[in-house]
Amino acid sequence: MTVQAAESDTLRTDFSLLIDGELTQGSGHLDVINPATGAVFARCPAAGAQELGRAVKAARRAAPAWRDLGFEARAEIIGKLAAALRENQDSLAELLTQEQGKPIGQSVAEIDRGAAGSEGMARIDIPVETLIDNEGQLIELHYRPLGVVGIITPWNAPVNLALGPLVSALYTGNTVILKPSPYTPLTTLKLGELLSDLVPAGVVNVLAAGDELGQLMTEHAGIDKISFTGSVETGKKVFANAANTMKRLTLELGGNDPAIILDDVDPQAIAKKVFFSSFVNSGQVCMAIKRIYAHESIYDELCDALVEEAGRARVGNGLDPETTLGPMQNKMQYDKVCELIAEVKTSGARILCGGEIPDEPGYFIPPTLVADVAEDSRLVTDEQFGPIVPILTYSDLEDAIARANDTRFGLSGSVWTNDLERGKAIAARLEVGTAWVNMHRATSPVVPFGGAKESGLGRQYSHLGLKSYMEPEVISIAR
Ligand code: NAD
Repeated sequence: MTVQAAESDTLRTDFSLLIDGELTQGSGHLDVINPATGAVFARCPAAGAQELGRAVKAARRAAPAWRDLGFEARAEIIGKLAAALRENQDSLAELLTQEQGKPIGQSVAEIDRGAAGSEGMARIDIPVETLIDNEGQLIELHYRPLGVVGIITPWNAPVNLALGPLVSALYTGNTVILKPSPYTPLTTLKLGELLSDLVPAGVVNVLAAGDELGQLMTEHAGIDKISFTGSVETGKKVFANAANTMKRLTLELGGNDPAIILDDVDPQAIAKKVFFSSFVNSGQVCMAIKRIYAHESIYDELCDALVEEAGRARVGNGLDPETTLGPMQNKMQYDKVCELIAEVKTSGARILCGGEIPDEPGYFIPPTLVADVAEDSRLVTDEQFGPIVPILTYSDLEDAIARANDTRFGLSGSVWTNDLERGKAIAARLEVGTAWVNMHRATSPVVPFGGAKESGLGRQYSHLGLKSYMEPEVISIAR
C-alpha cells in the first residue's frame, strides 16, 4: 500500500479528508506554507461543522464493533499501520519536512519513532485486576473504552503527536476524530489515507481544519474524550469548554524546561547533548531545554563549549541533507522569536552567538545563546519555543533548584552530573512530569509522559496513559 504521490512540482493538491471510511473533499480548504520558502506549496480540503457532524455519527456507529474486536485483533491492525508507515517513510518524511521545516533526517526519525512507538503501545497488557477475592466476595476492576475520542494536535511534530493519542485510543477500543494543526495538516491527512485501508469505516476520521473546529470538537456531545496537545493558553480553553459535557481529558501542554548543570561535570563532554536537547527542531519542542542553570565554576567554559556547538550547526532548508536546524514552522512563531531577540538586545543581556536575522525568504533564525539574563525577563519566564536559550549562573545549589521550580510550567527538566546518586536526589526535587539525569528529551511507549502544574493534565503512553482512554468499572460479586 502506498500513499498517493504528488502530481506536479507546483501546487500539491493530492489530499483528502477521511470521513466514515471515505476519502473526500471538504466544505473549505487550507493553503499550506513551506516555512523554508515562505510560499504556499500545497492546498488541502478543510472540514466545518457539517463534516464534523458526519464524522461523529460515523465514529459512534463504528464504536461497538471496534470495542468488541478485542485487544489482540486491534494490535494486529496497529502492526499493519506501523508497517505502512515504514513502507511510505520516504514520501511521508519529505512531505513532513516541506510542511513543518525540520531536517529530513529528523522527519525520517519522527516517522520511525511513531511506527516503533505504535507497536510498543499495542504490546501493553491491560488485564482485569482482582481487588478482593475471598469467601464472601469477588471484586474486580475492569476497563472499558470511552467511546469516541477527539484528538487535536500542534504543528511541531505532527506525525508523532498524532500517533501517540491515536494508537492509544484505537488499541483501547475507541473510535477517533483526529484534527491536525492548520499549519501542518498534510502528513496527518496521508496517515488517514493509510488508515482508510486498514480500519473499518468510521473507526478513524481525519478532519483538517482551523482552530474553530477544535473548539467545536471540545463542545460536541458526541465526543467522550479530548486528547489535546498544544499551548497552555489553548489547553485552558479546552479544559473549560469540555466541562459542559464532562469529557475526559488528556492535556499535553507547553514547558519551560530547566537543565541544572552541576559543578562536577566536564562542560566539553556534555555540550553536544545539551546543545541538541535545547535546539533540536530549532527549539520547537515542548520538552526542549529552555533554561540552562550552570554552576559558576564551570559557567564560562560551558558557554564557550555551547557556542562552539552552535558554530557547527547548519541552518537551512530541511530538504538539504547538510541542514541541522530548519526554519521556524510559521510566521507567527517567527515574529514572536524575532521580537524576543530584539527585546534581549536592549535588555543588557549578552548575546554569545546568533541574534542576527538573515534577510532572506523563509523563517530562519540562527541558534542564539544568551548570557547574563535577568531572571524575570521574558526569555526566562516564558516558553520561547524557538532557537534562543538563556544560560544562567548559580553558586548555591538550593538556589538553583528553587529558581528551576519557580515557574507555572512543569513538563520536564534535567540534572547533569558525574555523581548519579546526587543527580537522582536533585531530579526528585524538580516539580515536573519527567526529570532526567545526564540526558533530556527521551520518551518511550512504556513510560508515562505528561506535565505537572500548568504543563498539562494526565499522562500519555504506558499503562497510565492507555487507561486514561478507558473508564474503570468495578464489578462486585457477593458469593
Ligand atoms: P495551539 O494551542 O495554538 O494549537 C494546538 C491545536 O489546537 C491546533 O490544532 C489548533 O487548531 C487547535 N486549537 C486552537 N484553538 C482551539 C480551541 N479554542 N479549542 C480547541 N482546539 C483549538 O498550539 P501550537 O502553537 O500548535 O503548538 C505549540 C505548543 O504546543 C507549544 O506550547 C508546545 O510546548 C506545545 N506542545 C506540547 C507537547 C506536550 O506533549 N506536552 C508536545 C508538543 C507541543
